[in-house]
Amino acid sequence: KSRWAMAGQEHRCRRIVLFPLPFQGHISPMLQLAELLHARGLAVTVLHTGFNAPDATRHPELTFVPIHESSFPDEVTSLGTDIVTQLLALNAACEAPFREALASLLRGGQDVACAVVDGQCYSALRAAHRLGVPALVLRTDSAATFSSMLAYPRLRDAGFVPVKEERLDEPVPDLERLRARDLIRVDGSDTDALCGFIARVADAVRASASGVVINTFERMEASELAKIQRELSRPAFAVGPLHLLSQAPAEQSLHAPDRGCLAWLDDHPPRSVLYVSLGSVACVDRGAFVEMAWGLARSGVSFLWVVRPGLVGGVPEVPPLPDGFSEEVRNRGKIVSWAPQREVLAHAATAAFWTHCGWNSTLESVCEGVPMLVQPCFADQMVNARYVTHEWGVGLEVGEEIERGRVAMAVTKLMTGEDAAQMRGRAYHLKILASAATSLPIDSLIHYISSL
Ligand code: UDP
Repeated sequence: KSRWAMAGQEHRCRRIVLFPLPFQGHISPMLQLAELLHARGLAVTVLHTGFNAPDATRHPELTFVPIHESSFPDEVTSLGTDIVTQLLALNAACEAPFREALASLLRGGQDVACAVVDGQCYSALRAAHRLGVPALVLRTDSAATFSSMLAYPRLRDAGFVPVKEERLDEPVPDLERLRARDLIRVDGSDTDALCGFIARVADAVRASASGVVINTFERMEASELAKIQRELSRPAFAVGPLHLLSQAPAEQSLHAPDRGCLAWLDDHPPRSVLYVSLGSVACVDRGAFVEMAWGLARSGVSFLWVVRPGLVGGVPEVPPLPDGFSEEVRNRGKIVSWAPQREVLAHAATAAFWTHCGWNSTLESVCEGVPMLVQPCFADQMVNARYVTHEWGVGLEVGEEIERGRVAMAVTKLMTGEDAAQMRGRAYHLKILASAATSLPIDSLIHYISSL
């Protein structure tokens, strides 16, 4: 304890400046990191956009400063824009206001020890570096994903990406655990744009970052972490699972969670319910949505399904259920437009999670020992899904084509099939490893920051 206290005194007046990307899956881990740094005696300023601004009242001990971006172009804020276009536009829109906000802190005499910016915000990373502020990036995805991003420009030069149809099942050179089809991809966005974005992220880290902070833990991704450190010749701190280690309150959600589903779960036997959610951004077309519904019905299991606005075809309303499906819901299901996910995953009645494999959802499921049915939609979800099914052995694929018969079969296999018990055993083991993750890497990070 005294060591913490001493560390606190040593660093109390030094300030860390954080800059999250303004999306659900990015704001939460950044604020969890903020709480951990503050608890160890550092002063923390969170620079943020006005768009999707974090709720400062939930974190009274942190200082929040808006960067005053002029209003974002439609590419950033509108539903249905592809994520690459969105991230490129966001980087362009944030660079100058971020630089000005940081410069203004420096002019005000703040002793800024370093900046930690979201790993996708290459423009902010560059800006901090140019102002002479040591900067690190926070990766809110897995070490495996980040490693694949570092490899991407090489794979492109070698002609491996864009991946040709006939090579989709080949292992990726240097990333043996992934097949070509598992590489980051974004349907509807051209490969040039995606490669360009990834190259900017990778180049900026190489040129301007003093280190990398990753929301993962050593025992889950040891070899991927070692590889990143070798490749960048600078430290990578595996500070996760951040939601377990930090005392931060669950972040405010984009939508108000429907807590009634917890009482509904209370009425169910242990490990009997399938929780279904594709996160905050992914969407499916109407056909796949209908097949998901009837696949659930056919499987005969009880289900809690998050059907949020925008889930189908990017239409901003809550999609109507398929004709006749309400009857199935009355019998064995519950539909909500947003769930208190972490509590749902921790609930004894929850048996498994049908997920899009966003990294936060994946980690949350791992931390509760809940096996997964994976339906990756885009970006890093492909990588995460592959690790869930083939590296950690805690999940099954629902299959590329969403069709009711296959869905029902996959659900049944996951819930009650021959391998279900083994998979649950592995999920439990991973949960134990996750809960044994300590905040020592945070300690090392702080010492590293003070050495910069
Ligand atoms: N989430 C939630 N309720 C829901 C669906 C999602 O609280 O009904 C939370 C979930 O716990 C996770 C985040 O939203 O922390 C989603 O992040 P993730 O990285 O999994 O996916 P993204 O939304 O970024 O695609």
